[in-house]
Amino acid sequence: MNKEWWERAVQFHGHECPGLAIGCKACEAAMEELGFMFSADEEIVCVTENDACGVDAIQVITGCTFGKGNLIYRGTGKMAFTFFARDLGKSLRLVFKPLPPEMDRGQRQQYILHAAVKDLFEFKHPNYQLPEKARIFNSMVCEKCGEAAAEHKMRLQDHKTVCLDCFEEYTRGW
Ligand SMILES: [Zn+2]
Ligand SMILES: [Zn+2]
Repeated sequence: MNKEWWERAVQFHGHECPGLAIGCKACEAAMEELGFMFSADEEIVCVTENDACGVDAIQVITGCTFGKGNLIYRGTGKMAFTFFARDLGKSLRLVFKPLPPEMDRGQRQQYILHAAVKDLFEFKHPNYQLPEKARIFNSMVCEKCGEAAAEHKMRLQDHKTVCLDCFEEYTRGW
């Protein structure tokens, strides 16, 4: 396990935990298998199927972040991560295998950090396509509260363009 990665991930995440270790090892597996380094732009896209600790390691180590739009949340609740390498046309879906139940938290973390990636994850192919590149949306000003929001989040109400907060007073938005 790359010690520097682990230290950077722990610093960003705030604590050590088995979940963070899973995220680090998912990075190791994806980078080895797909052959990439840190993603400075959007050439690598990660689709995470959970919003747990491991996602923090993925953001720090791979450069797939919510802010850049190359980290996408697909909430199936599974401990699974898919990586797409746009330029290489390759993809990999990593599904974490269950651990022996008798391990305690500390043992789980140590086991994950030191295990071979093939022992930790099933290597699969995603059954969905590469998401399109992050689009830049125009913003519009809500005619009710005056706050600007992305165009595709606006709603029409009484012939006025309103934001989701204002629209929500009538229906349940989002
Ligand atoms: Zn954690
Ligand atoms: Zn508004």
